Amino acid sequence: MYITNIQHLLDASAKMRKEMPKEARELIGFLSLIIDTTTKNLPLTLTQTDISCFEKGCSGIIKTAFRPDTEEIHWYCPDCENEGIIGGWQGTKWDNR
Ligand SMILES: [Zn+2]
Repeated sequence: MYITNIQHLLDASAKMRKEMPKEARELIGFLSLIIDTTTKNLPLTLTQTDISCFEKGCSGIIKTAFRPDTEEIHWYCPDCENEGIIGGWQGTKWDNR
C-alpha cells in the first residue's frame, strides 16, 4: 500500500529540481495521471482507467475510486495488486473538479 500526500512529493521535487531520481519523477507522473483521470468523474467505486501500472513487468490497467468522506483517491492494480491512497491533490493542476 502506497500512501502519498502529493503535496509533500511536489515540495520535495521542487527542492531537488534536476537531481530528482528517475523513479521519483516516474512516480509523480503516474500519480498525476491518476489524479487527472479520477477527478474528471469522481467514481465512487473502483473504475477502470487507461493508465498502465508503473510496476516493472506488470501490464495491469489501474482502477481508481474517489472517497467522498476523506476526499482521498484510491488506486488499485488488479494484476500485481499494488494499491495506494493519494491525498493533498486538491488545488493541484491535475484537479479537474
Ligand atoms: Zn500492476
